[in-house]
This record gives sequence, C-alpha cells and structure tokens, in this order.
Amino acid sequence: MTTAREIHLVTRPVGMPVPENFRLVERELPAPAAGQVLVRNLYMSVDPYMRGRMREDAVYAAAYELNKVMYGGAVGEVEVSRSDRLKPGDIVLNQCAWRDRFIADAGTVSRIEPFDRDHLSWYLGTLGMPGLTAYVGLLKFGELDAGNTVFVSAASGAVGANVCQIARLKGCRVIGSVGSDEKAKWLKQACGVDQVINYRNCDDLSAALHEAAPEGIDVYFENVGGDHLQAALANMKPFGRIVACGMIQTYNNATPAPGPNNLMLIVGKKLRIQGFIVSDHMELQDQFQQDMVAWIKAGKIKVRETVVDGLDNAVVAFLDLFSGNNFGKMVVKIQ
Ligand code: NDP
Repeated sequence: MTTAREIHLVTRPVGMPVPENFRLVERELPAPAAGQVLVRNLYMSVDPYMRGRMREDAVYAAAYELNKVMYGGAVGEVEVSRSDRLKPGDIVLNQCAWRDRFIADAGTVSRIEPFDRDHLSWYLGTLGMPGLTAYVGLLKFGELDAGNTVFVSAASGAVGANVCQIARLKGCRVIGSVGSDEKAKWLKQACGVDQVINYRNCDDLSAALHEAAPEGIDVYFENVGGDHLQAALANMKPFGRIVACGMIQTYNNATPAPGPNNLMLIVGKKLRIQGFIVSDHMELQDQFQQDMVAWIKAGKIKVRETVVDGLDNAVVAFLDLFSGNNFGKMVVKIQ
C-alpha cells in the first residue's frame, strides 16, 4: 500500500478563497492494475484559471467537485509501471496536480524527454501551458508586424513574461504593466522590454500608457481586465487588436464589478477583440516546443519562476497569485 496526500476543495469560495476552503487528506492507494502506472509528482502548477474551476458555474474547464481532490498541471516520475508504454524513472506531464502520488492509466500521462533535467518545473511554465498560451495568443491572434507597439498586462507573470519576450523577438516595441519596481527592473534589464509601468504607483494608468506610447498601441495582450482594459481601449490605434487571454482582476469578485465606461471606442477605432483558450490550439504545441527550446538555448528567452516548497504550502501559493507574490511562474515543489 502507498499513501497519497491530496488537497481537496471542501467549500466553494465566495470572493477571495481562504485556506478553510481546502483540506489536506491522506488516502491509501491500491496497487496499479494492468495498463496503469503509479506516479510520484515532483512539481505542480498553481494557475489563476483554477479559481474559475472552484465555482459551481465554471465556464470552460469543469468545476472541481467538493470533497474530491483538485486537478491541474504537474510533472512527475513513474515509480511503478504495469504498462509497456512507460517504465520506472520516466518523467511524465499529467493533469493530476494537488497530490503527491496517484495511479492512472498510462495513456493519460505524457512522457517527456526533458532538455534539461535540472529544470523540470519549466514544463509547467515557459515550456508548458503558460508558454504555449503566450505563443498562441500573440502569434495566432495578435496579427503582429515588426515595429508594432504591444502592451502586456501582468507582464512579469507566467504568460506575460513570455508574451513580452516573444513580441521583442518579433521586432515589436513592448510596454509592460506590473505591480512592483523589482518586476519592472527585471523586465527591462533581463528581458529587453522597452517600457514598464508599475500600475500600483500610478494614479492614472491611461495617462501613463499614453506617455509610454504616444502614437498608440497596435496589440494589447489582456491578462488583467478592469482598469487595464479601460486604459488600453483609450490608447489603442485604429484597427488595433486586443488578445483577451484572462482578466485576473475580476476572478475573486463576489458580485460583478462595473465594466470599462469607454467600450464605444471598440466601434470608433474599429478594434478586434479575440478571446481564446489555449487548449483549443494544441496543433501548435510541437512548433511551440521547437521554437521555445531553441530560444531558451540561445538565451533569447529568460525564464523566471517562484518555487514554493511542499504540498502543504500549495494553497498559499495559489492564493499568492492574486496579490502578485509570485515573480514569474508560480510552481510548488512537491518532493
Ligand atoms: P501570473 O503568473 O501572471 O500571476 C498572476 C499575476 O497577476 C500576479 O503575479 C499579479 O502580478 C497579477 N495580478 C493579480 N491580481 C491582480 C489585480 N487585481 N490587478 C492587476 N494585476 C493582478 O499568472 P498567469 O501568467 O498564469 O496568468 C495570467 C493571465 O492569463 C490570467 O488572467 C490567466 O487567467 C490567463 N490565462 C489564460 C489562458 C487561456 O487559455 N486563455 C491560459 C493561462 C492563463 P503583478 O504583481 O504584476 O500585479
């Protein structure tokens, strides 16, 4: 018998989640059956979209069930295999985060050949779902041209930092928005971002954006919503594109907040707003992996992450996403 430690959702949060919404549960796992594997998770991802899955009326990913273990991206090592597809020691990506061990059919996890064994957590960030999100959103929906001005909110985060750097690689001028001077400094000095606004230090985001981009913005990569969307609309060029990736500012609203008051600019400026969900675009996964590994090896993309130690701290790591306590991709080292 093997014991697994799992984090369950026990009550649905109203507003900002609290630790009492979750419980750590220990459970005995049976031996794997034919065709199954026992996997020991090494790292798990915490992501803003998980907040949506805690709601009963989750929109695009199924709602987490109460009193059951939650799900999400993780990278683990096969401990026991009863399948020809995998052997002990194989590294696998899986959707069984929020637990240290699990049993699954071998076909439901994906073996990877990591290009660097010391950085397995990167497969949850720059080389994983958030990196692919940046790649798909910007390159498929941004309709970028070299010389474009691109504005990115939550610019130092898991998605945003990759958006900024890919846009730079494509010859764009990039303006980021972040919540601390330390994040701003890293984006400028390490990632070559042209200008960074610390939105927490600025009274008028729209005016700050105008100062940074007096000619206007061609592409806004939207991660935040609310004030950021309002400011971006005010500063878009005619025929600009808004790539709607997420709106984290709204995720913990217990009641809907008023929207931007300048939506008519979408008409007058003839803007295109395109929402997307990364999982609908897996056809770009192989191309993305090739490009991203090459960019990292060439030093053209910098990877930044915040690694929190221990499954016991996974809930706090998740909650920290909403106060900006992560710098780059937030991951939890499980063992
Ligand atoms: P991040 O790593 O960027 O972490 C979240 C960051 O958002 C925080 O660090 C903080 O940065 C910022 N933030 C949090 N609350 C607020 C707020 N109220 N106002 C302004 N900024 C805030 O997360 P991800 O990169 O994983 O996700 C970024 C966005 O992309 C999210 O909206 C997410 O839902 C979305 N997403 C969408 C996908 C899709 O398929 N469409 C897939 C993956 C992510 P700071 O300190 O700078 O404020």
